[in-house]
Amino acid sequence: MARFYVQAVRSWLRDHFFKRRKERKEGESAFVENGSKLLEKLIASCNGRSIPIRTFSAQQLHLATNNYSEPQLEYWYKGSLEGRIVLVNRLSDAKILAYLTINDIVISAHMSGHSNVLKPIGCCLDTPCPILVYEFAANAFERPVIHMYIHMHSILLDEHDVPKLSTFLFAVSIPEGETDVKGYQGSRKTRFCAPEFRGSGKVTEKTDVYYFGELLLELLTGEDYSNITRLKIDDGSILVQYIHNRAQGFCINEIVDPTILADGEGGASLQRQLQAVLDLALICTEKDPHRRPTMVDVTKQLRRIERFTEEGEELLGSLQNLKLHQRFEMLLWKIANDILLTEAQKKQKREIEITCCPLCDIENETCLHLFKNCSVVKAAWFSSNWGFCIESLNVNNSFDLIKNLVVPPAHVLPEQVTKEQFVLMAAIIMDYIWRLRNRVMFQNEKVNFQAIPFEISRKL
Ligand SMILES: [Zn+2]
Repeated sequence: MARFYVQAVRSWLRDHFFKRRKERKEGESAFVENGSKLLEKLIASCNGRSIPIRTFSAQQLHLATNNYSEPQLEYWYKGSLEGRIVLVNRLSDAKILAYLTINDIVISAHMSGHSNVLKPIGCCLDTPCPILVYEFAANAFERPVIHMYIHMHSILLDEHDVPKLSTFLFAVSIPEGETDVKGYQGSRKTRFCAPEFRGSGKVTEKTDVYYFGELLLELLTGEDYSNITRLKIDDGSILVQYIHNRAQGFCINEIVDPTILADGEGGASLQRQLQAVLDLALICTEKDPHRRPTMVDVTKQLRRIERFTEEGEELLGSLQNLKLHQRFEMLLWKIANDILLTEAQKKQKREIEITCCPLCDIENETCLHLFKNCSVVKAAWFSSNWGFCIESLNVNNSFDLIKNLVVPPAHVLPEQVTKEQFVLMAAIIMDYIWRLRNRVMFQNEKVNFQAIPFEISRKL
């Protein structure tokens, strides 16, 4: 009896006291180990600026999340800490991922000024793999950071549906004065990783453009890049490859997520928006990073695509009513939406650094410049049968330029000229300008001022 009692006490002691002490000891050693790694990374990346990161005990987070009882998504738990709602990111109990979670918190802290980045408030370092605590709030960051995992999985929506980027596990920041950096080698083996990273192990800002393109494809198709269910993709192939292989000559509706098309609204402008997003996703996921646009270009392009709205729909309607040759219709539509030059860059093999207008070699090449303001182009317009002065159009963007040419105001229309004749002339001249520009740019032809009126009158 007494022996049994002693054994029971021993086992109680073992289970409760020693185990706790052991846990505490483990907690302490994890804290020291994780804490020193975190500190090291923070010092290395903060440029002397202090980044406040609080630490919480495992017990605190246990209570805050009610024993991780409210999972929001895989690895994400809702909790209440010190009177505010927080998101707790508990990735793993395994020590092996400690390095990555520390990276996550350092990079998140760095980028926390960005309104679309989930803001960290602290972490727990007592566990073998740190647990991260986030809130939503907003300030700025300096060095470019490559996220390396831009997917649907890493974007959370807040209560106002504002997307917040998270999961900086594989993120790296580019050292000052450098353009590339070694990425996290552990993620290099997967077939999903960006081609240049798989090849060289190094990443640049263009690497995230690739992942962003992949995200666009996920949004368009409604597929998860790592688990494709609707589209029929060969084993071993990936979403990017599938779409690239099929991008030529197929209907956008074949690949678009049926729920986007389901409500039947949007009509032709939705089709064009989807097509434009697909085109953008395709350039973003080009194998050669140099051929991808910069993230700034991508943002601009998305803004333009967003504007393909009612006004765009109206213009498209007027354009279609004109029954122009399809090539002309497409050209005018692209100019109106300012997406023509990006298209041209896509077709180009070599990298284009110079954005100067190839015709005058003076101004920056924008759609508005190329079709209206360029001195060479003014001459081309004036070569029309009735000496049209393009400057008589008082417009300052390419959308209004096309609108004024397609639906010309009375003061613009020359006498004895019908609206249809006028638009056809405009389309022919713009097509001529575009071809001339491409010949000068890609075939090194020189601009011949004398030849312009002759060449145009031959086409009219
Ligand atoms: Zn020019």
